[in-house]
Amino acid sequence: MAALGLLALPGAGFAATPSTSSLVWPQALQVPGGVARLSLGSSATRPVAHQGELPLLVVGDAIEWTAIVGIPLSAAPGEASISVRTAEDGLRPLTYAITPKRYSEQHLKVSPRTVDLSPEDLARHERERKHQEVVMATFSQPLPGSLRMRVPVPGRRSSSFGLRRVFNGQARNPHSGMDIAAGTGTPVVAPLPGRVIDVGDYFFNGGTVWLDHGGGLLSMVCHLSAMDVQTGDVLATGARLGAVGATGRVTGPHLHWGVMLNRTMVDPALFLA
Ligand code: ZN
Repeated sequence: MAALGLLALPGAGFAATPSTSSLVWPQALQVPGGVARLSLGSSATRPVAHQGELPLLVVGDAIEWTAIVGIPLSAAPGEASISVRTAEDGLRPLTYAITPKRYSEQHLKVSPRTVDLSPEDLARHERERKHQEVVMATFSQPLPGSLRMRVPVPGRRSSSFGLRRVFNGQARNPHSGMDIAAGTGTPVVAPLPGRVIDVGDYFFNGGTVWLDHGGGLLSMVCHLSAMDVQTGDVLATGARLGAVGATGRVTGPHLHWGVMLNRTMVDPALFLA
């Protein structure tokens, strides 16, 4: 069965479809932190879709368009909606269902100065947060040619996305990426073609590189010991961008990999074969 045939069945549970080759990426998982693939039907030109104010990635062709929607970890289960504008039908809402998912709790012991921030560190983090918000608002053309990613580093992949985290006994933001076990110095590569939109050393994330894959699909890699690229560099899939490290708030060397759609961190595992 062709991928197009699958897409023509809105809401079809393609987890039940036969071979891996017929799967499309990202895999749909309509839970907080997941991704919805919403059929927009046919239209001569690409529809424009928004979730709230945020522009959405729309892929496909005149026969079948699909909105790829990142669902925030903070989203309430139940009905959600996007708005869709086509040349033929004008503006219309499209609803979809978010099913509940309970993420478990993870307790971590880290350096106390990364949990109870000094006034200086707090001010630094606040500056960095504002800067990252600008980076995260990137929505560029061309749109990604593929949504199937490769892992940025080989190694054991934790299923820690979404865990409610408690650092030194204090509740903090949930874990919004995938941690991959790898030693300091292991090369880190681009998971998809992309343009480097930020390189920096941040209080929590340590050495960090952000890539723009187009259409609001971004990825970030954190805690790097080396960064071999500069803002503006254009990378092919598999191109080296840095090396694994233990910088920022960590318990030891590993890669933190984040994937963002419509300014929403989603589970990177959904983009992998
Ligand atoms: Zn992490």
